Amino acid sequence: MRLAIGEAVRNPAFPFGAVIVRTADGAVLARGVNTGAQHPLWHGEVVAMNDYVARHGNRGWEAVTLYTTGEPCPMCMGALVWAGVRRVVWGTSIAAIRDSGIDQITLGAAELAARAPFHRVDLLLGGVLAHETDALFAGRPR
Ligand SMILES: [Zn+2]
Repeated sequence: MRLAIGEAVRNPAFPFGAVIVRTADGAVLARGVNTGAQHPLWHGEVVAMNDYVARHGNRGWEAVTLYTTGEPCPMCMGALVWAGVRRVVWGTSIAAIRDSGIDQITLGAAELAARAPFHRVDLLLGGVLAHETDALFAGRPR
């Protein structure tokens, strides 16, 4: 999560940072930060997924864990489900992101994943280092 925070601080106004690691040993495989000002799909998770594919190809998703500073939105969680990522860890909840003034669709990551019965979930965990990620969102420049 600290590496995801390190990505997030690169975009203080939209501090969504993501890192993809190999679950078995924690090796960092890809990184990303929200660049939504350049493209509406380029949320931190999507940028990290694009970085992952560029480096490792479109395979191996079942063996990775994605860490992100903010709970994945429905677009990003949908992308993670379609890719087959089984472990997703985040800091700040969608509700707290909304409280920071960033629009969010009110569909939680776990609720979305539950609607994809084909998708195997090993871990969906929120609130990790939330005292740090919440501070990024609450203190963001507006
Ligand atoms: Zn998103």
